[in-house]
Amino acid sequence: MQILTGLSQKEIEKITDELHQSKFRARQIHNWIYLKSAKSIDDMTDLSKDFREELKKIAKVSDVKIKVKQESVDGTLKYLLEYPDGECVETVLMRFDNRANLTACVSSQIGCAVNCAFCATGKRGFIRNLDYKEIVEQVLTIQRDTGLKVTNVVFMGQGEPLLNLDNVLKAMKIFNESLQIGQRRITVSTSGIIPGINQLAEIDMQSTLAISLHAPNHDIRKQIMPVENKYNILDLKSALKNYIAKTGRRITIEYLLIENLNDTFDCAKELAHYLHDLKCNINLIPYNSVEYNDFKKPSNSSVMKFKCLLEHSGKKVTVRLERGADIDAACGQLKGKYLQI
Ligand code: SF4
Repeated sequence: MQILTGLSQKEIEKITDELHQSKFRARQIHNWIYLKSAKSIDDMTDLSKDFREELKKIAKVSDVKIKVKQESVDGTLKYLLEYPDGECVETVLMRFDNRANLTACVSSQIGCAVNCAFCATGKRGFIRNLDYKEIVEQVLTIQRDTGLKVTNVVFMGQGEPLLNLDNVLKAMKIFNESLQIGQRRITVSTSGIIPGINQLAEIDMQSTLAISLHAPNHDIRKQIMPVENKYNILDLKSALKNYIAKTGRRITIEYLLIENLNDTFDCAKELAHYLHDLKCNINLIPYNSVEYNDFKKPSNSSVMKFKCLLEHSGKKVTVRLERGADIDAACGQLKGKYLQI
């Protein structure tokens, strides 16, 4: 049985050829999948009933199931999706009242080898890569379920996207060409995988690269991100300078603020110095305390002081709005609870 989600128009034409139908039928199917978020072949009402019956014998729209769905009081939706092999991933839809944007936060792997100390996904280790169709399924499942059109995609769910770069790039192409999501509305976030950053520097990617830095120096970073032992913060800076020089693009620095670990005055000064010659915006993310570790959320006043100090260095700094705090919307938390790991 062919799964239609993730197929290009050319691939759908092979199916319509097999059924002795025109390329125009392939185009209709393509539109139903990507632009009208059809849930089933029966939804494709501008195809004749006979053709739909023939198509149903060899194809279906999707084979992904929604295993759990949670809705936050702020409108954030969090899904646990199950693939046919029984593996699950999380996908989140974030809505902001004052903006028309609907942002899907997608996963790129099942589990993750990077093992950041603050992340539940890393605790489970790496299980497998998602293929590009499985990544595309996440956004289309949201669209089918809500009837809404996703406008932005961020690769900030489970997994390290740059350790599954081929599939991530293929999924980005489909988001752009088939779902008509502008390349600039797609963000790829990495823990700092230098070979992947170098690869992205060589291609004409209009999307935003976000770096999960989370520390101003090697000693603090290696306490919370083992990836620092392989790709250290100084080599990372060289790779980022090269990326910016080659692409001309501004990067985003993500910085998780953890009380008394990386939120001090000295850390802010050191971070400002590290970033002073990088073309970047900074996104501060106050940590959300969870049961499985001792990291603490910083106070609002220390977040604001940290922000002010960085702004004095001339950078644009935002504090990420907390989304879905009542539904465990931090990385890996829903899956952990559901599977009781
Ligand atoms: S934060 Fe991201 S890169 Fe780090 S362990 Fe979790 S999923 Fe992997």
